[in-house]
Amino acid sequence: MKVPKKVKKYCSHCKTQKEMSVSIAKQQGKNKVHPMSRGSKRRIKLRGGFRGAGNKGSFSRGAITKWKRYGAKKSKKVNLKLQCKECGKSSILIGNRAKKVEVSHS
Ligand SMILES: [Zn+2]
Repeated sequence: MKVPKKVKKYCSHCKTQKEMSVSIAKQQGKNKVHPMSRGSKRRIKLRGGFRGAGNKGSFSRGAITKWKRYGAKKSKKVNLKLQCKECGKSSILIGNRAKKVEVSHS
């Protein structure tokens, strides 16, 4: 998907349509891994370790390791960052799915 470098969009700070510069929004830090979430490696390890060691039947079955589905989607949602050229405020436009997003020059 090609995106123009400049677009005319409504700016909520200026309250009118203004020219805005477009860039691809970077993800704010990596997604945190919850060490004890259901499918986490640590939990699976612990469950395997606790099995049959007087755990009151809470881990009666073995750890399920094969239920996550990887590689189901081939495209990614890419958010676009719009920055107003007059006030300098920026907003994020939630993107659609696309294999590749490119901000075209000119
Ligand atoms: Zn503005």
